[in-house]
Amino acid sequence: MVRNDTLRHQGMRKRLVDGLKIKGIKDSAVLEAIGTVPRHLFMESMFINFAYKDQAFPIGAGQTISQPYTVAFQTQLLEINKNDKVLEVGTGSGYQAAVLLEMGAKVFTIERQKELFAKVQHFLPEIGYTPAFFFGDGYKGLPDFAPFDKIIVTAGAPSVPEDLTGQLKIGGRMVIPVGNDRKQVMKVFIRISETEFKTEKHGNFVFVPLLKGTVNF
Ligand code: SAH
Repeated sequence: MVRNDTLRHQGMRKRLVDGLKIKGIKDSAVLEAIGTVPRHLFMESMFINFAYKDQAFPIGAGQTISQPYTVAFQTQLLEINKNDKVLEVGTGSGYQAAVLLEMGAKVFTIERQKELFAKVQHFLPEIGYTPAFFFGDGYKGLPDFAPFDKIIVTAGAPSVPEDLTGQLKIGGRMVIPVGNDRKQVMKVFIRISETEFKTEKHGNFVFVPLLKGTVNF
């Protein structure tokens, strides 16, 4: 099905999944998705030996593909159900979007850097993953497609963008790292009513920053 996915890659993925279990990831659908998405195809072939290490990696344009543990942790916090309508802010390499699609979610993903957007829009469908791609400023979300069951922000936000909380369904969950450029707290916002949100905190992480506006090259 997928080009260049060998038994060796499958074995490396299985070891990655075993490592994520030891680190506390329990959602079996998340583990299965990470065990299925060919992460090595999201990197240049010379970095193949890094693909299944549990670490972040540069993807060009000053950005990174998130560490598998971070992807697993955020996805687990989203509590994904099949057919959930999910907004992802920060498409980057497309890996997180592929994991969500593998779990049966409908994914709307937005990226502010033209170079990354153009690359991923071409690449992801080629390996069988087709979210709805948007080029734009994720701070604003996608008002034309709201409301969403789930929202995931994959860059560190200095504060919680109000446009995003407003695009969450009642009962919906948003997972977002909030903090300065050195350290963020993983927060979950659960919309209880039109005006009320429940907030949870889930430890410290380090993401590239959520930036305003778009970059057109
Ligand atoms: N989810 C990605 C992680 C990429 S890193 C993956 O799986 O690979 C975070 C990404 O967020 C970067 O690509 C960065 O350009 C993007 N980003 C930062 N601020 C943004 C904004 N306001 N709107 C959309 N994307 C943004």
